[in-house]
Amino acid sequence: MQDKSYVPFTKEMIKDYTVLVPNMLPMHFKLISSVLKTHGYTLKVLENSGPQIAETGLKYTHNDTCYPAILMIGQFMDALLSGEYDTRKTALIMFQTGGGCRASNYISLIRKALKKAGMEYVPVISLSFAGLEKHSGFKLDLKKMKQLVYAVLYGDLLMNLVNQVRPFETEKGSAERLADEWVRRLGEELGASKRISYKKVRGKYREIIKSFMEIPIENRKAVKVGIVGEIFVKYSPLGNNDLERFIINEGGQSVVPGLCDFAMYCVYDMIAEHEIYKNSHLKYRLTKFVYNYLNKKRTHISEALVESGRFDGLTPFDRVVHLADGLISTAVQMGEGWLLTAEMVELAESGCNNIVCTQPFGCLPNHICGKGMMKPIKELFPDVNIVAIDYDAGASRVNQENRLKLMLANAKKISARNSSVADAAEKEAQQKNDTAYCNAEK
Ligand code: SF4
Repeated sequence: MQDKSYVPFTKEMIKDYTVLVPNMLPMHFKLISSVLKTHGYTLKVLENSGPQIAETGLKYTHNDTCYPAILMIGQFMDALLSGEYDTRKTALIMFQTGGGCRASNYISLIRKALKKAGMEYVPVISLSFAGLEKHSGFKLDLKKMKQLVYAVLYGDLLMNLVNQVRPFETEKGSAERLADEWVRRLGEELGASKRISYKKVRGKYREIIKSFMEIPIENRKAVKVGIVGEIFVKYSPLGNNDLERFIINEGGQSVVPGLCDFAMYCVYDMIAEHEIYKNSHLKYRLTKFVYNYLNKKRTHISEALVESGRFDGLTPFDRVVHLADGLISTAVQMGEGWLLTAEMVELAESGCNNIVCTQPFGCLPNHICGKGMMKPIKELFPDVNIVAIDYDAGASRVNQENRLKLMLANAKKISARNSSVADAAEKEAQQKNDTAYCNAEK
């Protein structure tokens, strides 16, 4: 049942309050914060980390709660208790899908934690397209939604480019520095005007890609490692112990699906629901419109990447929705649902044979769609190597990293064997050619 007794975030609070944002996707959330600044809000993407975050989370919520909730609550409470913020002028924000998963209860859990700490007066804003709660000081109109979509698209493009360049850069840190610079510039641009043309956004894609192509790189190959799983532990360095950095440091290249894919999954779920349950036709037409809108925008990013002649594009989402056909139904919509399975197939199909499936403690839905789907996927793609890594407050980081090291070592061995087989085949073909040429000369 919806909690009606919450402290609302009012219009009067916009001017004076700092709104704290959990750190799930640093680049995306900084861009989103810049957009919201245009509308008068002061947002702060939290960067506090370390073992005290999970400890604080466990102090203020039950230990059988999902691990992402423990971390987000821990990060909020750690910030509020740090003395850095005037708690009477601070609010918290949570992004919610409004789906049937436990994530829809995170807001109540945060409020419970605040009450336990004697800070029940702190407003908690639910940012949800499903309109889970009403806050007079925080309304998503069409204009804001459009700007947020642009922020997500920019974030996805930057994340994709960093992943494709970082393993090969000759000067360590250059791709990340360039991405930070773009986040700052794009944030200012998105924040400079309440109206921004999409034509301009599209034009920026090419400018961004060009700048990443100018980063000096070395000519070598890296083992590609796909990262899938529950949305928070998949993306958040806090949730996955900085998994992407670990893969890079071990000489690999991480491949991470974008946030737009998750948004499109949420929209497509409503289309699938209509196809299965034949519910409201009006809702179906509206969601179809939103799906097509996002699909077009995502395609533009992919086209710009391919046009560069250097970077890989994205699998069309119309295809992604069918990748899990025969494995799992699109009616499986809790957590990352069918998308998690489809993403593993997408990676395997594209030749990314090493996949890390990040699984938080307490996450039953993703254990079914992730771990539960590993066997049938391996039957379809015998060369694929999927490792499910559990993340929770008590999990040993050393153990997680050892399993990843083993996966990378195996992958490197296979890749070396394949390239020596390819070299030998090439040599043999060359020898045959030379002999044929000599015979012809004679
Ligand atoms: S997806 Fe998993 S971790 Fe996230 S709320 Fe649902 S059960 Fe919890």
